[in-house]
Amino acid sequence: MKWLMVTRFCRILIVALLLALGAPTTAQDSGPDAPLPTPAAPVTAVPIPRPLPVQTLTQGRATLELFFAEMPQGSTGVLRVMGDGLAGARARFLDEMIEFFAVEGDGFYAFIAPSMEQSARDYSLDVFTWYADNTRETINTQVSVTVGKFIRQEVTLGPDKAYLVDPEIERNELAHLESVFSTVTPQQLWDSKGFELPIPGGTLTSPFGAFRNFNQSMQTRHTGWDLRAPLGQPILASASGTVAYTGFMDIRGNLIIIDHGWGVFSTYCHFAQIHVTRGQTISEGQVLGTVGNTGRTSGPHFHWEIAVNGVFVDAEQFLLIWKPGAGT
Ligand SMILES: [Zn+2]
Repeated sequence: MKWLMVTRFCRILIVALLLALGAPTTAQDSGPDAPLPTPAAPVTAVPIPRPLPVQTLTQGRATLELFFAEMPQGSTGVLRVMGDGLAGARARFLDEMIEFFAVEGDGFYAFIAPSMEQSARDYSLDVFTWYADNTRETINTQVSVTVGKFIRQEVTLGPDKAYLVDPEIERNELAHLESVFSTVTPQQLWDSKGFELPIPGGTLTSPFGAFRNFNQSMQTRHTGWDLRAPLGQPILASASGTVAYTGFMDIRGNLIIIDHGWGVFSTYCHFAQIHVTRGQTISEGQVLGTVGNTGRTSGPHFHWEIAVNGVFVDAEQFLLIWKPGAGT
């Protein structure tokens, strides 16, 4: 078992290294058979060991831990705050208020996530804490947002789907998604298995955050990862949760959104068939539907997204970070 864990951990390291080196990929949305110069190493679920905090700050009774050194655009970071009699905490980061969630016997946790478009510089992070005796404290620090490693892609859609190259369709769809993501479940719905790829051992192809030029007429960004998948391939839930949405949207086609609690949502797109319904409780690895070609595609493939606090984040980076309640 230990050997297996080490092997899986090595695979994750290989993927992280490939990402750091900017491994070449192609725009899967441009077609099902685009050549892949460097197949990415598969990623599977692993018990991610709890890391030591990178930065620890104490102010009065409260101690704040940051589990990251800096934040590349589109990444997610974990914060923990604890203290005697601490009753709750909230963070202010990038003009947003972010809730901390209690983990019994382990303090309070929050995710922070600068968007892929956030300017790279230092930003103020304020953590407001309050106590059972009604006293309050604030801890302030700086968080460095750094430039993400994003590639550029040319994507060509056929005449039948060219009408989807329309900024207004994109804006309306994002507004619809934001309304789903705005309902935050304060309970942690993922279980100890944590998060894994929707296709176990699947190959990630077109990367998160890519600058895309559709039909040489519209610039946009890739809000998730594509995975290589044939028509009919079963797609599994990344983690346990509740189905927040199923339906059709112009760009994402037939899609499913799962609420994992704490403001974390995973979205699965371009389905041929959907096997779950809104409100259904989902376990990690449960079949959600089958790969299709619906929405803004020109060939069957699978598109996978994770949003944290209403922001699309690098789903693979989210998979690789330690999260409270999952791993060891
Ligand atoms: Zn995609």
